[in-house]
Amino acid sequence: MRYLFSVARKTDQYDAKKAEAQGEAPTAERDVNAALDILDASARGLGAFHINACLRCGICNDTCHIYLAEPQTANLPAAKAAVISSLLRRRHTFLGRHLPSFVGARDLTTNVLDEMPETVFGRCTACGRCAVHCVLGIDLREIIRIGRQMCAAAGRVPDGIQRTVANQLETGNQMAIPRDELLSTAQWLTDDLKLETGDDSIRIPVDEFGKRVLYLINPREVKFFPLSLMAAAGVFHAAGESWTISSKFYDITNYGFFSGDDTAAAEITRRVVAEAEALGVEEIVLSECGHGYRAFRWEGPRWLGKPYPLPVRSVIELLDKYIESGRIKVDPRKNAERVTLHDPCNLVRLGGVSEPQRRILARVAADFVEMTPNREDNFCCGGGGGMLALSEYGDRRVASGKIKADQIRATGAKIVATPCHNCADQLLELSKRYKLGTEIQAIVELVYNALA
Ligand code: SF4
Ligand code: SF4
Repeated sequence: MRYLFSVARKTDQYDAKKAEAQGEAPTAERDVNAALDILDASARGLGAFHINACLRCGICNDTCHIYLAEPQTANLPAAKAAVISSLLRRRHTFLGRHLPSFVGARDLTTNVLDEMPETVFGRCTACGRCAVHCVLGIDLREIIRIGRQMCAAAGRVPDGIQRTVANQLETGNQMAIPRDELLSTAQWLTDDLKLETGDDSIRIPVDEFGKRVLYLINPREVKFFPLSLMAAAGVFHAAGESWTISSKFYDITNYGFFSGDDTAAAEITRRVVAEAEALGVEEIVLSECGHGYRAFRWEGPRWLGKPYPLPVRSVIELLDKYIESGRIKVDPRKNAERVTLHDPCNLVRLGGVSEPQRRILARVAADFVEMTPNREDNFCCGGGGGMLALSEYGDRRVASGKIKADQIRATGAKIVATPCHNCADQLLELSKRYKLGTEIQAIVELVYNALA
């Protein structure tokens, strides 16, 4: 109820003619109209329910890691929703049209557009935790994404995210890694694997036609975390898997999902599917990436307007099957230190993959303990929703991760396993900032280490 009485009621009618007379750039009207098209389209779909239904009861307040870290009105879940719902109410309700200030309705202006990124990119990681606790089942993440779509249509996506989308469209991967660098990384990792295992037949296959699996990776695995690609290659080899990566379209990430640009997101998805078909694989397997899983597995077919021509699953699901079927043998004593698990929001709460990683850890680690809360009620690490690409919100990101740091400390674990490279980056920083003394590892690294 706190929020009910603290909402700012404000109306500032957009008047294009007046704005033009005041010398406003002609693009301003176009930006507003482009954003309004998105808003109006949402009014025709389920988005309208999510946008309009909030009672501002405040029950979800304490579920948001950003509000808990910075308890200000602007960080309340309902306040973030109100940034969008106030615009919708103005155009699509009787009272909003005729008595806007009475119902907290306002017009979309360039000022409102300019302020919107702060809310939809800077104060929400679109983690969806508030929806789990909402009395009405309102999915605030849906509302935030409508806001992000409006920003994308109006050219208001923050640079850090927009640059990443542009990289991916221009070069095929979000970090603009040249093809030669990928090839040389695959080569030296292959050399290291041969040395480490003493097996001369082990390798990282690139652009090989007719293999069973196309393995998509996070470009961070090429640049910063090559051990997880090396571990995957070691496990695939042990399992006798037939697999390849592509040197052109290997990137599992999709920052169009974060930016709200569905056209870009669809194009990034389309290229990967076309590459899988060109390479003649039977299945696409996704490396450990929370938003990449959510975007490719669940949003991709919607963006493309048709189902995929081949199955898609997370490598976590594949590793679980290897172990369950006895295709690989593991010895938990090889991971003797206490391990806990961080649940990436997009893989678990929003992606539906929660149990395979637990079955795996129970078998590959001698001392696996859960952190609390977990699974669909997990707290976001603070780095989701594209936040890691936005240096302007770095302090807020680290502050909002304190809840996760406290959860980790309470487990007494020395290793935090997480099936997401994005979360791994944030957890590494949290470990340093909050002096946790923990290592961060991908699930596949623990599996590789446990190979018997
Ligand atoms: S989706 Fe997550 S970050 Fe956004 S308001 Fe809800 S709990 Fe907070
Ligand atoms: S989102 Fe749901 S729980 Fe949160 S204030 Fe609105 S109605 Fe209440």
